[in-house]
Amino acid sequence: MIKTTVLNYTEMEQNNMESRNEQWRIDLRNAKTPKERTAIPRVEMPQLDPKYRITCNEEVNQGISAEQAVVEASRCLDCANPQCVTGCPVNINIPKFIKNIERGEFGEAAAALKETSSLPAVCGRVCPQEKQCESRCIHTKMGHPAVAIGYLERFAADWQRDNLPQEVPAMAPANGIKVAVIGSGPSGLSFAGDMAKKGFSVTVFEALHEIGGVLKYGIPEFRLPNHIVDYEIEGLRKMGVEFVKDCLVGKTISYEDLHEMGFKGVFVGSGAGFPRFMNIPGENLNGIMSSNEYLTRINLMEAGRGGDTPVLRGKTIAVIGGGNTAMDSTRTALRMGTERVILIYRRSEEEMPARREEVGHAKEEGVEFKTLHNPIEYIGDDKGRVIAMRVQKMELGEPDASGRRSPVPIEGAIEEIPVDLVIVAVGVSPNQLVPRSIPGLDISKRNTIVVNEETMQSSVGDLYAGGDIVRGGATVILAMGDGRRAALNMAEALLAK
Ligand SMILES: Cc1cc2nc3c(=O)[nH]c(=O)nc-3n(C[C@H](O)[C@H](O)[C@H](O)COP(=O)(O)OP(=O)(O)OC[C@H]3O[C@@H](n4cnc5c(N)ncnc54)[C@H](O)[C@@H]3O)c2cc1C
Ligand code: SF4
Repeated sequence: MIKTTVLNYTEMEQNNMESRNEQWRIDLRNAKTPKERTAIPRVEMPQLDPKYRITCNEEVNQGISAEQAVVEASRCLDCANPQCVTGCPVNINIPKFIKNIERGEFGEAAAALKETSSLPAVCGRVCPQEKQCESRCIHTKMGHPAVAIGYLERFAADWQRDNLPQEVPAMAPANGIKVAVIGSGPSGLSFAGDMAKKGFSVTVFEALHEIGGVLKYGIPEFRLPNHIVDYEIEGLRKMGVEFVKDCLVGKTISYEDLHEMGFKGVFVGSGAGFPRFMNIPGENLNGIMSSNEYLTRINLMEAGRGGDTPVLRGKTIAVIGGGNTAMDSTRTALRMGTERVILIYRRSEEEMPARREEVGHAKEEGVEFKTLHNPIEYIGDDKGRVIAMRVQKMELGEPDASGRRSPVPIEGAIEEIPVDLVIVAVGVSPNQLVPRSIPGLDISKRNTIVVNEETMQSSVGDLYAGGDIVRGGATVILAMGDGRRAALNMAEALLAK
């Protein structure tokens, strides 16, 4: 198992205890009884009306107000042994930032978040809190809804951005050592930020014409507006990080070129952007494409929104899969004016890996859910364009290796559904261009880069890696944590030379 934290456990506990024993925290804790705190209802996220929001790309979740944030923060019991922290993949000191919100010190709350997370405004919007920190909140054990940690994280980060000047953090003096980053997703950005803080000269090479990785080309603006990501990138620029766009490492320049350019260490955060298909008959018909292609055309190339890039449209679109990517594709299809959007997933809704909130939003917006169905064949017209799909009805059997009940076909239960566009969102794999171009690099059977679990160092001494290229498809917060841990260890190794 690859480690997720940057701090070790003792440091984390010490950090929690020190801040918890400050006088203002003790006074705040004593200001209300636990009974009073648990009696407060959980805040509701203000949202755009579903009928309106599918006509535009505006952010659906509008964010909670300062008044709502203070009340929500007062629900937190400031536990002595806060289990929420153990549920956070990078062990953010959650009660510390929440209690700062309760006392009205929103800037301090944002600073507490930044101690551990380099992208709190992003994580507050897209992290699956219901499976992480919030699932461990003491409230859930007492039969109450968890403290809305994600909403509060977003509030503090947004408040800081909207109210305080963007400050350059304390930086070590420049040490003259150059390091390169391949890929500008969350792993590459957090690595770049930490290395710049430690005094290194950092250059990020990105294949696309936009910086941000999946945060820009995958996750749609109605969930994560681009200006939130751009603000973080601007912060890195102010710290001296340089960005080279339209540069595909492995084609435009090679790994050897990076050495010739004087880079002493390389971090690979090239993600997992290689789409998977199901290899069923008819899958190469026109009108069947990967979610990656569909979302990139629309989000990055602005297809259908004034950009030159074309995108196929349909009256009835089927999206295959049950993850965040599938959900983003359905909701994007609605915003492209599609009359009927059907989500087809082979297990039941309970097993869907997508965030609960996304599933709820997709339903509110009118996506039809056809769970326990699996495509087995696509049918085309005489011009080779898809016109229908055959789906197999499934039932749930025994749990498989993932712990979820596996889907089993019900013999003879096959249905034909007319469709004119199909988006396949059944998973991704790491792109092999970078790994295969580096001699001696250890690559796993799943095509991920093999790293030392503690340090993120690969079999090639000066090369570290993290995020989806190592994990094969994970989450923003895990990618970010990997980048930070790689920075800690690469910096130590380079400075010891
Ligand atoms: C549609 C979608 C929705 C998602 N929703 C969520 C969510 O709600 N919550 C969540 O936590 N996670 C979500 N994820 C997963 C999350 O976005 C990823 O786990 C995360 O972005 C991985 O970060 P990364 O830094 O490893 O790579 P990426 O974000 O994939 O970035 C990799 C970057 O490297 C660049 N690159 C690749 N090869 C090269 C090369 N040879 N040279 C130069 N640059 C290169 C790519 O162009 C890309 O910009 C979602 C993913 C998708 C696709
Ligand atoms: S577990 Fe819940 S109540 Fe306890 S500190 Fe964490 S957020 Fe607060």
